Parts: sequence; C-alpha cells; structure tokens
Amino acid sequence: MTARLDAYVAALDRAAAHTRAWLASMPDRPVPPSATADELRRSLGGPLPEGPTDPADVVDLLAGLAEPGLMAMPSGRFFGWVIGGTLPAALAADWLVSAWDQNTGMRFATPGTAAAEEAAAAWILDVLGLPAGADVGFTTGATMAHFTGLAAARQQVLTAAGWDVNRLGLTGAPRIRVLVGRERHETVDLALRYLGLGTPEVVSCDDQGRLRTDALAELLGDGPTIVCLQAGNVHSGAFDPVGAATALAHEHGAWVHVDGAFGLWAAAAPRLAHLVEGRPAVDSWTTDAHKTLNVPYDCGIAVVARPHAMRDAMGMHASYLVHDDGVGDPFERVPELSRRARGVPVWAALRSLGRSGVADLVDGLAGHARSIAEGISRVPGAEVLNDVVFTQVCASFGTDERTRAVTARLLADGVTWMSGSRWRDRDVLRVSVSNWSTDADDVTAAVDAVHRAAAAT
Ligand SMILES: *Cc1c(COP(=O)(O)O)cnc(C)c1O
Repeated sequence: MTARLDAYVAALDRAAAHTRAWLASMPDRPVPPSATADELRRSLGGPLPEGPTDPADVVDLLAGLAEPGLMAMPSGRFFGWVIGGTLPAALAADWLVSAWDQNTGMRFATPGTAAAEEAAAAWILDVLGLPAGADVGFTTGATMAHFTGLAAARQQVLTAAGWDVNRLGLTGAPRIRVLVGRERHETVDLALRYLGLGTPEVVSCDDQGRLRTDALAELLGDGPTIVCLQAGNVHSGAFDPVGAATALAHEHGAWVHVDGAFGLWAAAAPRLAHLVEGRPAVDSWTTDAHKTLNVPYDCGIAVVARPHAMRDAMGMHASYLVHDDGVGDPFERVPELSRRARGVPVWAALRSLGRSGVADLVDGLAGHARSIAEGISRVPGAEVLNDVVFTQVCASFGTDERTRAVTARLLADGVTWMSGSRWRDRDVLRVSVSNWSTDADDVTAAVDAVHRAAAAT
C-alpha cells in the first residue's frame, strides 16, 4: 500500500508543479497555442508503448508535450466565444472531486458529495432568484441542461394532452409545437433533435436579437407547446423579455424554457437583475457554471420548477440501486447514471465568493465589457453594433473584409483573443468577458491590441 500511495503522491506532486507553472505563465503568455493539433498528434501519438511507464514520468511527459497546444483560456486577456476562467477554490475542489472518485448517483452511497451538491443547488436557486423548491441537476454543460429541461417539458405537455410518452414513446403522439427566437443558441435545436422534437418554429427578433412578444402572440395557439426563451444572446448579450413572454405563453398552457447559459447570472447582481425580470414564473432554466461562475469544465445546471417534472422525465428504477424516495437521487436529475461530483466545485465557488462576491464577479464582467466597447468605439472606422447591456460586445470595422482582416491581425498578435463571427448580416469581432481574473490592465492591453490591429489594416 505504501508503494501505491507513493505512486499517487509522486504523480500528484508533479501535477501540482506543472499547474503552478501553467498558472504562473498567464500574465505574460501569448493567448493562442503555438502548435496545431496535427503537430501535437505526432508528438503525443505514435504506437502505444508495449509496457508501463512510471506515473510521475507520464505526468511530466503529458505536461511537456501538450503545453505548446494549450490556449491560455484562463488568461484575463482571453475574450473568445463564451469561456469562463477558473476560481481558485473551484479548481482545487475539482482536484478533490477527482481524488475522492465518488460516483455521485445515489445519496445513500456518496452522502458527502450528494449533500454538497444539494447545498450548492439551494444556493444557486437563492442567488439566481429562482423558486426555492425547484429541482436542480448538474449536467456536463448547457446543451445537456437543455436536454434535461426540455425532456421534462416534453413529458409534461404530452401528459396534459393525455399522452404518456414514457410508456408510449413519440410515435403517434400529439404533435408538440416548439417556438424559439430567431437568435436562440443552436444547442437548443440540438437538444430538441435529441428529444425527437424536430426543427422548431422561429419567432422574429428585434435589432438586438430579443424575441418579439407581438410575434410570439401571433404564433401561439392551443395544443402541446414549448416556448424557448433566451437570457443572454451570444452576440449582443441581450435578454428576451422573459416576464412578458412567459405570461403570454402560460395563457396558452405552454411550457417555458429559458436558455440562460451565461446570462442568467445577471440575476445575481442587483444592478443587472432587471434584465431577467419575471424569471420565477418560468418552468425550466438552463445555465452553465463553467461560464460565468468560473468553475472548471464541465458543469452545466438544469433547473426545473414544476414538482416531480424532472424526476418523471429523468428518473429510473433498478433493483440493484438503493433509492432515496424522499429527496430523490442525483441520477434522477440528469441524463447519466454514473458521473463525477461536478456540483462540488460549484459549492466551493459559491462558498468562496458569498453573495456579494457573486454579484461583484458578474458586475465586474459587465463593467469590463463596457470599457472594452468604449475603447473599441474610439478606433477609427470602428462601430460597436450592440447595446452593451451585459458581457458581450460586437464590433465592425467598416466593411466585412476589413473586419475580417482586423480580426486575423489581432489573433496573430496574440496579446488578446476575441472571436470573429457574423451577426445581423455583418462580419463582427466578438468579445465575451467571462473570466473573473480579467482586470483593468487586461482591458487596456486588449483595447490597445485592437487599436494596433486596426491601425495596420
Ligand atoms: C455556451 C452556450 C450554450 C451551450 O453551452 P455548453 O455548456 O457549451 O453546452 C447554450 N446557450 C448559450 C446562450 C451559450 O452561451
């Protein structure tokens, strides 16, 4: 046993040293990787060794070989896609989760991690202003949180129409209409596809990408219906009118699901909570902890308000499991049976920040987004295309061609990373401020880099 323990300690000590070096490199490191996946396939690949390698040596090998291919996503100068950083408490808790190796499916078997997740779930509902009794499941990400919430939706709207989908399946079922805003995230469509619900009907949006309630009113009718709203548009950061659209949808008996992958966290900041007004009336929500809350990948959160709806859709019974018939087991709230205790880093993040810390985190991200937008708008020929209400900024540099050229030059420069995209029929440079560690110096460095790229283009 001593030999086994020694092997763990040696390997983990190496991992800790490499972690320290990686994090220490963040302040000065260029953001982009310096090697491509094809190059790294060669160094990391080749024939499988015929025999064993010492675990600590494996850690050294891996860290050394993978390093040139790592994007500095934890850097405060990284603003690509919508990618959160990692809070210290959450990263360390994630290490413990791996070391503990608890298969967190059953309360009876892993009470330590199950209880930490239940505590984290209650804090999430509290800090996001969602109904205290709602069910919470920790999924791999927002995509699977959509899947979970929309599975509950599918089951409930069909039950209301007199159809037991768990027993009868979808063949011959009443048709479910699904209405989504034109600018919903594509993962909503993906989850609908997983659920056999086909391609949704599209509701038109305003110039910020917000679903228009008048257009929704025209499309709503009778019969089983699910309405998917969005809190936080990946381009503009804009929020659908959640309260008004939910009230309208409920008049028609529809289920309302909200994609708040990053935007739902506005609810945690008193100055921004008005953006998600009316959220307690919603039936199911998706959010990510690995974005705005800054826990390591992978951690999405599915919240379902209607009693039993989540467990009716996701639960199962098997004779060899030990079931908790009261509170319910973790596996009844997610698609998987076996899984890591991914809610534990959420517990650690929230425990370390406290209520004011979460509010400051979210406020800070939105404040930095405003500063970046101001800085970019001073670039000759640049135009910020969205109202910067939250963490997202979209800018054009005149023609699509110039915008693409500025983006390419900026990424080659390496000081910062922002993604190119297309929004409202224009090429854009897209900024998402999602990392707790971004500070005023990072903002200045990033804006300066944009000025340099534009001046040279
Ligand atoms: C990132 C994102 C998703 C998908 O989330 P994953 O965690 O990558 O599955 C869905 N909706 C919105 C608005 C997002 O920003």
